[in-house]
Amino acid sequence: MSALNNFPLGQPAFVTNVLDRAAHLRTNEEKLFALESRRDACAYVIYRDSLVVKQEESGPRALLSVEEALKFGANPGTVFLGLRDGAPVFGMGIASQAAEKLVGRSDVAVTELRGMAMQGAVPSEQLSAIAMAKSMVTWHQRHGFCANCGARTAMKEGGWKRECPSCKAEHFPRTDPVVIMLVTHGDRCLLGRQNRFPPGMYSCLAGFVEAAETIEDAVRREIFEESGIHCTDVNYYMTQPWPYPSSLMIGCTARATNEEIIVDRTELEDARWFDRAEATLMLKRQHPDGLAGPHPFAIAHHLVGRWLHGGDVAGA
Ligand SMILES: [Zn+2]
Repeated sequence: MSALNNFPLGQPAFVTNVLDRAAHLRTNEEKLFALESRRDACAYVIYRDSLVVKQEESGPRALLSVEEALKFGANPGTVFLGLRDGAPVFGMGIASQAAEKLVGRSDVAVTELRGMAMQGAVPSEQLSAIAMAKSMVTWHQRHGFCANCGARTAMKEGGWKRECPSCKAEHFPRTDPVVIMLVTHGDRCLLGRQNRFPPGMYSCLAGFVEAAETIEDAVRREIFEESGIHCTDVNYYMTQPWPYPSSLMIGCTARATNEEIIVDRTELEDARWFDRAEATLMLKRQHPDGLAGPHPFAIAHHLVGRWLHGGDVAGA
C-alpha cells in the first residue's frame, strides 16, 4: 500500500474517529466494569510511542481483545475510549518488563506507532482511537500524583478524570494547543526545517499557544520569532490531534507583509520561501535537490497541498 495515498488532501492522520465516545457511560462504575468483562471488549495497548499489535497473516492487528491484551501483560487499569459498533473499546498501558517479554515473539510485536501509521500498516480510520489511547495512557502514567498536594491520585470516570483522595482536587486530561501555519507572500510560501527533521525536509512553522493568547496572536508571534516575518490575515483551516503526547495542531494560513527572513537558529536550522513549482515537487518527493515536504500523515502537508490546489480541498 502506498503510504502517500493513505491520507487524501484534507484528511491527515488522527482526524477520523470511528468511536462513539459514549461519555454518559463514564460515570457508571458498575456498567463500565460490566463492559470490560464483555467477550467483545477490545483494547489498544500502548507502550511509550509504540503499540502492541497481534501479528496475523494479513498483517498487524492493532485492536486486541481485552483477553489478548491481558495475556500479553497489559495493565488491568483501563481507559474507556468508547463504543465501536456497540463493542466497548479501551486503552491500556503495559509495563516495560511485560513489553520486553514480547520481543522476539512471532505472534505479537511492539511497533512504533508513527512509522506504522505512515506506512499504512494500521487502517487510517483507527488512528484517531489509537491517538486517544496513546494520549490518555501517557497522561495517566505522568499524572499519578496530585499537583496540588502531592498525594497519589485515583483514576475516575473511565479514566477521564483523576481525583485526589487527600485534598479532593480533580485533575483532567490535558490537551496542548499548537498553532501550525502556512505563511504565503504572493506566489511563495514560507517553510522551515528543524535539525531533527530528515535530511532535506521542510515543513510549516509551528509553536505552542501561550497562556491567555489568541490563536491569531500565537500565529503572528511564532512566525515573527522564528523567521522575522510579520503576517496578517490569519485564517483557520482545520485541526489535527497529535498524540505526542497530547497536542492539538491548529492549522492556519496567514499572509506575510515583509519578505526578509531572519532565522532564529535556536529553533530552526533554516527557513526559506518556496514557489508553487518547488513546493509541488517537494510534496511529490520529486525535487531535483532532494528537498521534501511534510508527509501526508501530518497536517502541514495538507496546509501546503490546499494552497497549491487553490483551496479546492474536496476536488483536489
Ligand atoms: Zn491533592
